[in-house]
Amino acid sequence: MPFSELGLSAPLLSAISAQNYQTPSPIQEQAIPPILAGNDVLAAAQTGTGKTAGFALPILQRLSEGRKPGANQVRALILTPTRELAAQVADSVTALSADLPLSTAVVFGGVGINPQMKRLRRGADVLVATPGRLLDLHQQNAVKFDQLEVLVLDEADRMLDMGFIHDIKRILKLLPKKRQTLLFSATFSDTVTAFAQTITNNPVKIST
Ligand code: AMP
Repeated sequence: MPFSELGLSAPLLSAISAQNYQTPSPIQEQAIPPILAGNDVLAAAQTGTGKTAGFALPILQRLSEGRKPGANQVRALILTPTRELAAQVADSVTALSADLPLSTAVVFGGVGINPQMKRLRRGADVLVATPGRLLDLHQQNAVKFDQLEVLVLDEADRMLDMGFIHDIKRILKLLPKKRQTLLFSATFSDTVTAFAQTITNNPVKIST
């Protein structure tokens, strides 16, 4: 199936061409339609399968239909286990939103917090974050979730393995209950499955 049949808008199709993606990968073919339709999704996907564009494209399309973020507000939050993955995901989201009036920010630990606080003042349509630094920023009132529409947990199994469960639970308490939740994980152990059940609502399940 070509990208043009997945229900994506012209600005996204043009960004896809600019990335030289010819056809959707299996995870993209399965994930894009239910995410566009507003469903929660649980997806089993390894790195290298195109999972990032699989959630980024439909999220960007949904965000392009709504209102801009206010000061310090975030409309889509993508949590990742490491700063390297956060930077990589933010780069992909930025490239795929090149033809849309949407802004992306990225925050992670191990670097100064002040530039991140300054960046968040003008709000972000998409924020890619590692859990600990996000909580620090929230404690400083630098990030607010009143306008949050979508939460993505990327590499959820790694986040749980790395001991982020408590941070993630604290973050979940800060988010609106009415939201779309997408969970991507390479593996679905009993722990990941049980956790996924507590944070999603009637999710569409995908595996490739
Ligand atoms: P990911 O699994 O999201 O880390 O993506 C792995 C790599 O595949 C990245 O370099 C993407 O730019 C690339 N990619 C994603 N989707 C496609 C596609 N449909 N066709 C070709 N390459 C892709």
